[in-house]
Amino acid sequence: MNHSLKVFKFGGASVKDAAGVRNVVSILERYREHPLIIVVSAMGKTTNALEMVVAAHAEKSGKAFELLQAIKEEHYQLARELFGEDHEVFDTINDTFVELEWVLDEEPHSNYDYMYDQIVCVGELASTRIVAAFLNRQGLPTEWVDARDVILTDDIFREGWVQWPETVERARKIVGPLVGAKQFVLTQGFIGSTTENFTTTLGREGSDYTAAIFSYCLDAESMTIWKDVPGVLTADPRKFENVSKLDRLSYREAIEMTYYGAKVIHPKTIKPLQNKSIPLYVKSFIDPAGEGTLISNEVDDTYPPMVAIETDQALVHISTRDFSFVAEHHISYLFTKIAELRMQVNIMQNTAISFAVCVSDIDDKVDQFAGNIAQDFKVMITRGLELITVRHAQPEVLENLRKGKIILLEERIRNTVQLVVQDVPVLQRKAL
Ligand code: ASP
Ligand code: MG
Repeated sequence: MNHSLKVFKFGGASVKDAAGVRNVVSILERYREHPLIIVVSAMGKTTNALEMVVAAHAEKSGKAFELLQAIKEEHYQLARELFGEDHEVFDTINDTFVELEWVLDEEPHSNYDYMYDQIVCVGELASTRIVAAFLNRQGLPTEWVDARDVILTDDIFREGWVQWPETVERARKIVGPLVGAKQFVLTQGFIGSTTENFTTTLGREGSDYTAAIFSYCLDAESMTIWKDVPGVLTADPRKFENVSKLDRLSYREAIEMTYYGAKVIHPKTIKPLQNKSIPLYVKSFIDPAGEGTLISNEVDDTYPPMVAIETDQALVHISTRDFSFVAEHHISYLFTKIAELRMQVNIMQNTAISFAVCVSDIDDKVDQFAGNIAQDFKVMITRGLELITVRHAQPEVLENLRKGKIILLEERIRNTVQLVVQDVPVLQRKAL
């Protein structure tokens, strides 16, 4: 057990430019004496840009190489601003990108998700090379670790599932001895690898989860996510006024809100931390002295209403063709199909002969699902919906949320209310 190890996660927004990286270093300087594992994401919007490279390569549009060069140039530019013209980091960045150039030279792989992971991982590999080199140059000795040597996943590309016993063993063997020896350990968020050493990713925004994996494996004393907001807020400040920061939150509250779309933390982050009672701090990298939010084992207290919104929802309405009841064997069959596609079910409801599920509309999963069950069921899909989850709901909050929306499905369990909504078209709104 290492009681003083801390794990920090810095997301893309914190390292989006040279000023950002310098700010990260200034935060880390204060922890010079601490055993620290630092998990860093790709710079800024790099992952989005790399997704375009993947698409271009798959479509053979001839643009993939050009798009990649622009991304590489952004990394060189960042390195120039931090290191000047001459530093070995330029060779390292080049080596990191060269492997990808080879991939792009070849025919696109038939498995899109596999190809995706082999390409997008370069974002984290490159950003961590730069940040590690800069820390070393600023007199903060830092060991760069390849997260793929540590995090073992299954081979479901783009959403690799962590193989825990192997990952724990590898973390202890590889990272354990590096921690604390008057140096920082720095690694990539978001990426892992299969037993055959193919790169996998853990799902978009998965770097928080990576930090939680390291925290769990090495029994960290605490984990901190450094964000551009002061902590966990009661709702997304881009969508709501009067939001306030929560000083403390239970794991339970945090997992419920993040699962349903509170974007502040990746939803998978909480479980490994809860399992070992590792406290999670969410703090601002803009105001590092701020208190932030502490997520821990505290007994559920009274909370203000909290709102999370998940967009890109599809409501799938399923009914039997022959008027037979939607009985257990149907439900079990439908769930087998849902599980095969790893779809995220957010709400479900059934009547005598119908069953409705609200799912996240990712890629073509909903269409695949509909296709798979079309023989036995009538399927109706409504897309482009929002799922609004309100915890500790109060009537006025709900009333405000309902304004201008058509409610397609509503559910209340104790103090949690969930609404699947569609915007009222403007013309109709006038008529009401
Ligand atoms: N770079 C990845 C993404 O943008 C992972 C992360 O940021 O957490 O999704
Ligand atoms: Mg990110």
